[in-house]
Amino acid sequence: MADIFATHEDAGPDRPGTRAEAIHRDIVRAILEQRLGPGTKLGEDEVGAIYGVSRTIVRAALQSLAHEGIVVIEKNRGAFVAHPSVKEAAEVFSARRLIEPKITELATAHCEVAGAALLRDHLAQEKAAERAGDDRAAIRLSGEFHLVLARIAGHGIYENFLRELVARSSLIILLYRRSRSQCCKVDHHAALVEAITGGRSAEAVAQMVSHLDEIERDLELVDTAIPIKPLSELLGAR
Ligand SMILES: [Zn+2]
Repeated sequence: MADIFATHEDAGPDRPGTRAEAIHRDIVRAILEQRLGPGTKLGEDEVGAIYGVSRTIVRAALQSLAHEGIVVIEKNRGAFVAHPSVKEAAEVFSARRLIEPKITELATAHCEVAGAALLRDHLAQEKAAERAGDDRAAIRLSGEFHLVLARIAGHGIYENFLRELVARSSLIILLYRRSRSQCCKVDHHAALVEAITGGRSAEAVAQMVSHLDEIERDLELVDTAIPIKPLSELLGAR
């Protein structure tokens, strides 16, 4: 039955909400692939021209990204990809340590045949990207692995919460990683998949905790990064 509250504009794939969501997804994907770095300006006109949409739609997408802490909107300056501080970075990882063991436990309980196939397929994609030397895909897929677990866990709130945390983690890793290595090691994910598909909940949870510890250990959480500012704020008379 058609939704009687849907207006003509709301009805199709071109409705403003859907287009804003598509832009939101695309920007998150660019962050997960580390194409868009912290502090990058997201001009409304420029973003609108890229996607061929009005400023209203761009604004809706940027607002929802800002709501998730992925974008920062500054008065009179516009929207920028967030530049998480050391404190925020520590908070993101402590939040992940809180919810991901639970997600892992739920994913193990609800894995079944379809979930196991999904995990193995994802792992194969991660390995293929690594073999091909496709860094962007490897980085995005390694973040998405955690979201696949949340999908299998079947807990929508955890999944939405984790989507935000994973996108913010990608920015944090870009800013604070010690080495050029990617955030997640495929071997760790493989061990997690083994434990989850084998129904070994405690082992899977322990693997997840040590995996998150390892990611955080590879970060140097010191406030040394200089925020990107326009020259007008750096030069001239004050
Ligand atoms: Zn991982």
